Amino acid sequence: MLTGKHAVITGSTSGIGLAIARELAANGADVVINGFGDAAAIEKERAGLEHDFKVKAYYISADLSKAADTREFINKAAKALGSIDILVNNAGIQHTDLIEDFPVERWDAIIALNLSAVFHGTAAALPHMKKQGWGRIINIASAHGLVGSANKSAYVAAKHGVVGLTKVTALENAGNGVTCNAICPGWVRTPLVEKQIQAVAKSKGIEVEAAAKELLVEKQPSLQFVTTKQLGGAAVFLASDAAEQMTGTTMSLDGGWTAR
Ligand code: NAD
Repeated sequence: MLTGKHAVITGSTSGIGLAIARELAANGADVVINGFGDAAAIEKERAGLEHDFKVKAYYISADLSKAADTREFINKAAKALGSIDILVNNAGIQHTDLIEDFPVERWDAIIALNLSAVFHGTAAALPHMKKQGWGRIINIASAHGLVGSANKSAYVAAKHGVVGLTKVTALENAGNGVTCNAICPGWVRTPLVEKQIQAVAKSKGIEVEAAAKELLVEKQPSLQFVTTKQLGGAAVFLASDAAEQMTGTTMSLDGGWTAR
């Protein structure tokens, strides 16, 4: 379905980004992956994409919390792939604390990566997409782009910002073949959430699995984690022809989190 398309997925050495890269590649897209981690493990994932799906896969390293590096990364990715058709702005981090205790350095880091990198990545990718009259920008926001939670000021502010930026990107490009939408996942059991589960287990003196259940009971009525593969499927849909008139909107995969 996406054969001949070229996709860039930020923060795709782990979790949701990696699963989206695999699902886009499984549908025929060549991909650029990015993110931190052990060089040998990253090379294994990159080679696995080429081997499993018979596409081209490149790894391009960049610290996307830096504006210039993010823009340079997109241009390097376009050069490696030949063009950019699909940009998935996925890289993100988390920190939890009350507002008055929230370290300024953590606030700055979350806003830089979870929000500003989406702006810089989009700004650098749009000229490539507009030139060819086709593009799909898929922003990985969160249920926290739609509702708040205590102790997550920077994350909730950044993700609400991503939802707003998604709307503006859509409006500025309506009718020119470029769409922009946000996916809003609920709890997904990736390293980012595993840290929060461990913290709850530690602070309450309970087993890790009991802490995982507590997170679900508090927020996610389905009481099941969203899977990374399901999010990959959502990204494939947004890149498909069926989603051509879908732009500026949010797609929730949150087990009912934001329904109440
Ligand atoms: P993860 O920690 O598994 O993956 C994050 C990725 O971002 C990794 O590849 C990491 O190397 C990369 N990264 C971190 N800092 C970076 C930087 N400065 N520059 C470039 N890459 C960097 O996390 P995840 O759960 O897969 O999260 C992916 C996205 O999904 C994030 O935007 C997150 O906010 C969002 N999200 C996650 C959940 C969840 O429950 N896990 C829910 C909603 C939204």
